[in-house]
Amino acid sequence: MAKKDYYEILGVKRDADDKIIKKAFRKLARKYHPDLNPNNKESEQRFKEVNEAYEILSDPEKKKQYDAYGHAAFDAGFQGGEGFKPWAERTGGFDFTSTGDRGVGSIFEDLFGDVFGTRKGYQPAPEPGKDLYYNLEIDLENAYTGTSTNINIQKESPCDRCYGTGEEPGATRTTCPACKGKGTRESGRGFVRYSTACPNCNGKGSVSSKCRLCGGKGTTLKSEQISVKIPPGVDNGTKVRVAGKGGAGIRGGKPGDLYLILSIRSHPFFERKGDDLYCELPVTINEAALGAKIEVPTMDGMASMTIPTGTQGGQMFRLKGKGMPHLKGGGSGDQYIKIMIAIPKDISEEDKGIIRKISPMYKENPRDRLRWRR
Ligand SMILES: [Zn+2]
Ligand SMILES: [Zn+2]
Repeated sequence: MAKKDYYEILGVKRDADDKIIKKAFRKLARKYHPDLNPNNKESEQRFKEVNEAYEILSDPEKKKQYDAYGHAAFDAGFQGGEGFKPWAERTGGFDFTSTGDRGVGSIFEDLFGDVFGTRKGYQPAPEPGKDLYYNLEIDLENAYTGTSTNINIQKESPCDRCYGTGEEPGATRTTCPACKGKGTRESGRGFVRYSTACPNCNGKGSVSSKCRLCGGKGTTLKSEQISVKIPPGVDNGTKVRVAGKGGAGIRGGKPGDLYLILSIRSHPFFERKGDDLYCELPVTINEAALGAKIEVPTMDGMASMTIPTGTQGGQMFRLKGKGMPHLKGGGSGDQYIKIMIAIPKDISEEDKGIIRKISPMYKENPRDRLRWRR
């Protein structure tokens, strides 16, 4: 297939000047850039053509050769006019991936330099700090009311000596040996190349000695006291987010978040199932048999409850809305009270006589309904 004319590729006239060529190139390269056209083979091809055309037409010497000899000027082994060395021999061949003067790094900067800043100062993007997790155990009472508390956490915080730069303050800077001062590193394959910040100098192009305190990390592990608020209704495993209290961000990035993972200490007499609370309530034989107004514990303190005549052991009563508050949305669970008949442990002969007197109250065998196949 015949190679397309470089001027045609850029859509410019043969007498177009530098400015017009550059403008046309920028427009087309942006249009066909692989980052903007992922997995588009045609764009990829056009991007390659546009870059190749610009590579030649933006270089005065190559442009002169192209104008004189066309594509043949860049064929390996081409012998131009008198004293004209093949271009391939001088430059090592046309290699779009070369990182020479007009390598892709510079083309990338031509393209995006105005977006990302100056050519030299290709700064890597700030990175957000890490999210941290902290296990916090609280009492059921505090889970009921909600609470605030102070916790101490160890976390990466900006270094006090270098203020997060990782460089020893006042030290002299030298050109980064890895990127030779460019601040960028090319990566990718074939003609699809990307400029990323040089990892050795973080895109600065120069290096300094590492901060003596943090060893170049820019952060040190510090203990910080943080006051946290726990909303009412939290349960085992509830995550409470404390925005911005995670690890320090890198290069001015946002700090991460702190997540409190809650666990609730078991309570001596309340058991929690979801947002409902369960409590066993011992009553005397008299109270159960005769009915009574008795005091019951709730999360709000003691409350009174009436049990009817003939209350059975194991019978459940519900106190509506006396459970744990719902974490999401208003309202609360319920409290369930399970009646336990308390029998005195010390029973004298006299007591026995009294108890025997109530035996006729049982008109039927209480275990009748448990009769089964024998
Ligand atoms: Zn430091
Ligand atoms: Zn570097």
